[in-house]
Amino acid sequence: MTFPIQKTDAEWRALLAEKGAEPAAFEVTRHAHTERPFTGKYEEVWADGSYHCICCGNHLFDAGTKFDAGCGWPSFWKAIPGAITEITDRSHGMARVETVCSQCGAHLGHVFEDGPAPSGLRYCMNSASLEHQPE
Ligand SMILES: [Zn+2]
Repeated sequence: MTFPIQKTDAEWRALLAEKGAEPAAFEVTRHAHTERPFTGKYEEVWADGSYHCICCGNHLFDAGTKFDAGCGWPSFWKAIPGAITEITDRSHGMARVETVCSQCGAHLGHVFEDGPAPSGLRYCMNSASLEHQPE
């Protein structure tokens, strides 16, 4: 799969360092690592505003769709239409749906069908993949 924004690993590392991203951000976004639960900086953040891809700034979620899933990762019940691409992930012996940024392919997390109404979806995200912008 190719995405509109293409950079080398070295370019992503430099860009994330320049933005002051979390140390885990490169491995999470470019190599699909998962941060440990209850360690991410946005899990307990309930401020207004919006959430963007840490790599390219793509607007992914509005803060109003964030909810406390109790799973240890920031969770949302609705993504901005078209912002996220879903990929079936069969690693670790499970069939899960991986979510990546539609603009740059950054790994964000997974989406599950056990979220709250009205969508029934739970976008389980890594804090390291996100950048919160206040309104
Ligand atoms: Zn992106």
